[in-house]
Amino acid sequence: MKYEVDKNGFYGDFGGAFVPEMLYPNLAQLRDNYRRICETDDFQKQFRDLLRDYAGRPTPLYRASRLSEKYGANIYLKREDLCHTGAHKINNTIGQILLAKHLGKSRIIAETGAGQHGVATATVCALANLECIVYMGEIDMKRQEPNVARMKMLGAEVRPAKSGSKTLKDATNEAIHDWISNPEDTYYLIGSVVGPHPYPDLVTRFQSVISEEITRQLSEKENRAHPDFVLACVGGGSNAAGAFYHFLDEPGVRLIAVEAGGHGVDSGESAATSVLGKPGIIHGSKTLLMQTDDGQITEPYSISAGLDYPGIGPLHAHLFASGRAEFVSATDDEAMEAGRELCQLEGIIPAIESAHALAALKKIKFDKEDVVVVCLSGRGDKDLGTYIDYFNL
Ligand SMILES: *Cc1c(COP(=O)(O)O)cnc(C)c1O
Repeated sequence: MKYEVDKNGFYGDFGGAFVPEMLYPNLAQLRDNYRRICETDDFQKQFRDLLRDYAGRPTPLYRASRLSEKYGANIYLKREDLCHTGAHKINNTIGQILLAKHLGKSRIIAETGAGQHGVATATVCALANLECIVYMGEIDMKRQEPNVARMKMLGAEVRPAKSGSKTLKDATNEAIHDWISNPEDTYYLIGSVVGPHPYPDLVTRFQSVISEEITRQLSEKENRAHPDFVLACVGGGSNAAGAFYHFLDEPGVRLIAVEAGGHGVDSGESAATSVLGKPGIIHGSKTLLMQTDDGQITEPYSISAGLDYPGIGPLHAHLFASGRAEFVSATDDEAMEAGRELCQLEGIIPAIESAHALAALKKIKFDKEDVVVVCLSGRGDKDLGTYIDYFNL
C-alpha cells in the first residue's frame, strides 16, 4: 500500500482537484512548482530558521510520568502546544507564506472557522509584510471574538461570510470566489490537509516536521526511532498527518486518529466523519464527508471548534479505507474529562481538540513496555471559557 499522493493528486480513491475551470491556472502554477521550490536549499534554510527561531521548534517530547503510571504504558506528549500562537498551525502557515513569497504573490487570503488558522495566517503575513484577508462566517465571528481581535491587531482584514449557515463552509466558498477574481497576485493559504491537490500534500509535508522530530527525540530517549502508538485528533487532519507521516510505511507503528463524537456518534450531533461520512466532494477534493442522502453537506457538531469540520483530508480517508490508521471517536464529555485529567496529573491545560486525543488513551489496551506518543496539538488558553461553563468553575 502507498500513502504518498500520486501524480494526479490521489491517495487511493481520494483526493484530486475538483475546482471551477477558472482556478486551473492558479492550481497548475502551485502544483508544478511547489516540490521544486520547497526542496531548494534557500527555501529549506528559511523554513528551518523560522521554525527554530520564530515558532520555537523543536517542540519538546515530554514523558508524562503520572499519565504513564495511570494508563500502564510509556506515554509521551509531543508539545505542539508550546509553539508560537499556541498550536501546530504555525508550522504550515510559515511554510506556505514562504512559498507565496517565492511565487511572487503579494496578497494572502484564508478562511477560518474557530479563528485559529486565521490568527496563524495573520501572524505570518505580518512577519512577511504581505496583505492579509481572512474570511470568517458571521456567526463564527461572534462566537470567537478574541480571535477576531487578534487578527485585527496583527493587521489583517476579517471579512464576514454572510451567506448560508454563516460558518466555515460559507467562509471557504467566499475565499474561493476571491481567488477566482484575483488569480494573479493572490495566494490562498489553506489551514489543514484539505482542499484540491496539491494542498493536502503541501500541508502534510510542512507538518511532517512533527514526526521527524519524534523520530529523533525517541532515538535519544528510548533508543528506538519508532513508537508503538501515535495518537492524534482529526479535524481536517493536519496535526495527525504531521504526527503520522514518518511512520506511514512502518506497519509496526499503530496510528490512532481520534474524531469528535460530539454528543455521541449516533446522536445526530457529532463530527465523526469516518464513521458517518460517505465519499463526496468538499473544498475541491474527493473524500469522506458527512452528507444527507441527496448529497447536502451536514452541519457537524463538536464542543471543540477546531474539530467540527464535516470532512477529513483525502490522506485520512485513504488511511481509513485501507485500514492503515484506526479511527476512534471521543465524545464531548470524554474529551472534557481527559482535558481536566491532564491539567491535574501533569499541570498542562490542553486545547479541547487535543483533549480528544488524550481521551482515546482509555480506549486502547497497552502493554507496560509500549511507547505511546500523543500529539498535544494546542494549548487550552483559548478554551478557558468553555472549560469554565462545562465545569462550573
Ligand atoms: C485547528 C486545530 C486542530 C484541528 O486541525 P487539524 O488540521 O485536524 O490538525 C486540532 N488542534 C488544535 C489545537 C487546533 O487549533
